[in-house]
Formats: sequence, structure tokens, C-alpha cells
Amino acid sequence: MAGTANGGRTPKRPTAPNGKTKPFSSVNYRDARLAKERQRRQYEQQKKEKIVFALFVVVIIVLILIAILVFKKAIDNGEANDTQTDTETTTAPIEQTTPPDVQALDQFLKEMCGKEQIHTGNLLLVDASHPFTASVESVNVYSGRTKFQKGEKTVYSYYLPDTTPTLSADALTALNQMADDFYELTGNNDLYLDKAYDAAAIGDHATGLAFDLSVYTIKQEHYELSDATASSDFEWVFNNYYKYGFVMESPAQSGERHYHFRYVGIPAATYLFRNEITLGEFLTKLTADHAFADGKTNATSVTTDDGAVYEFYYVEATGGDMTSVPVHEDALFFSISGDNRNGFVVTVRMS
Ligand SMILES: [Zn+2]
Repeated sequence: MAGTANGGRTPKRPTAPNGKTKPFSSVNYRDARLAKERQRRQYEQQKKEKIVFALFVVVIIVLILIAILVFKKAIDNGEANDTQTDTETTTAPIEQTTPPDVQALDQFLKEMCGKEQIHTGNLLLVDASHPFTASVESVNVYSGRTKFQKGEKTVYSYYLPDTTPTLSADALTALNQMADDFYELTGNNDLYLDKAYDAAAIGDHATGLAFDLSVYTIKQEHYELSDATASSDFEWVFNNYYKYGFVMESPAQSGERHYHFRYVGIPAATYLFRNEITLGEFLTKLTADHAFADGKTNATSVTTDDGAVYEFYYVEATGGDMTSVPVHEDALFFSISGDNRNGFVVTVRMS
């Protein structure tokens, strides 16, 4: 009766055997479904985890196999061999990590230079701002010239105004070689030494390293070296003076009456000639760009006509009484000159 009385309007709750309505029966039913659902999800979760774990194991195994293969290949290539090759491969890279242009300081010998040596040497810059202060041992040019026999006459490769001119021994030797070669090549001995060592001079002539040359003919005519009316022979001087260790200045450059020659030595003379710079410009360049620092010479170099390579670098004076000037222990030749300013120019022949 009750079944039809409600007309299906409300769901009929299950009835307990005792006839009482079970108040939470529908909830229990849902719980069961939820529990079943939860179980299914748990099962699927476990299944997923099992798959992930299996994949993980596979990946690990693959990685191990790859590692084994790589290691085996390394062994085959001899990269991971016995201990003997291990020591060989570990020592080689250490040598290679030192850049070749960085020379260890212990490769350099220390030349101790006193502060007075800043003002001596062939590369001194001497002008009104940098007066010459060292002493000069000059030798007589008149008696130091080479004698040539021309028939019964004794001739010389260049003229002098009188018997008094003197020069430092190195400058005179170089002048004689240049003038003698010029005379032997051209038969011309009209070169005329106008001015040499002058203790009272303000510039180069105070050093004993400088002289001026002009032309004096047998007809008692006086010309400049560059004067076309004299002889084209003198072109040779303009093309070759650096080979004897000289730098040259025209009257316009030196402000003097004639062509001015200053002895600096063959390496520096070649460098100045090839780079078309003056001694002052050379010293400024060395100070700015080629100063010794951190075990490196930072040198600039030139190849002389005989094929020798000379390097030049600058060492600034420390300001104390002595400066330690580094010179590479393998140098075949070196010389150190003051710059008459703040330091030293090192000339080195390495090969
Ligand atoms: Zn001069």
C-alpha cells in the first residue's frame, strides 16, 4: 500500500528487516561506489607508478650501457690507458698552458744600471730640454782617416777644414767605413766634414757622435749633398748611411748649415730609416708601446741588411741609484743605452 501511496514521488528508502527505515542507507551505497572508484583509481595509480618505474629502470640501463660504450671507446683510443700514458698526458698540457709570448722572469739576466747611465749611450736624445752631461773621449779625425794611394799621392776619402776635428771612436770608425766605401764605389772623394765634436754645443755635437757633411770640390766649390750641380754620386749617401749606423737630418730638419749625421749604431739606424722616424719619435714610441712589463719585453724589431733580427724595448729607471735591466739569457748580443730622459733602451739580438 505504501508502495503505491507515494506514487513514486519520493524514492522509497530500503526498509530494514525490523521495518524501520535505515536512515543512511543511500549514503552507504554511495560510499561503496566511491570506495570502488577509489580502489580503481588506486589500482590505476599503482599501474602508472609501475610503468614509470619500469621506464626509469630502462633509462638507467640505457645510460649505463652508453657509459660503458663511451668508456670502452676511450680505452680503445688509448686516452685512458695504463699509468705510464697517464703521466705523459698530464705533463704535456701543463707546458701548453703557458702562452709562448710570456717568458718567465727567471729567463732574464739582471743588468744593474746606475742612474748616471741614463745619460750615456748611443741612443741619447740630446737637445735644449735634455742637455748632454756625460764626458766624451774623442779621437782626432785628421790622423784617423784611411790612407789611399792614388799614383804617388796619398789621398783620403773625405776632406777636413783643418787638423783639429775630433769624434768618439765609434762614430769615426763608422764615418771612415761609409766614406771609404763611397770613394771606392764612385772614385769621388769630395765629401767634406764640416763640423764634428763640440763640447760647447747644445745638441748632438756635444756627444762626439755627430758630424755634418757637405761637398767640397777640387775646384774649391762648396755644395750641399743634395745639390744636383755637385754630382749625382751623392745619392748613394742618402740610400746607404743607415747601414753604417747613422741617422741623418737635412739642414731644414736640423736647423744647421749642412746635412747632419748622428751615430746610433746599425740596429737602431736601420729601424729609424725603415720606419721613417726620428730618434726622438723612436724613444717616445718605445716608452709608450714597448716597455718591459710582467716578464714580457713587448719588443719591437727590425731585420738589418745582413739578415740579423734585432729587438728593442724600454726599461724605465726605478728612481733609485740602481735599476735592474732584464736581458734574456739566450741573447746573442745586447747593448743598453740611456735615453737621457727616464730610462734605458735595450737592443737585443735573439737569432
Ligand atoms: Zn750637425
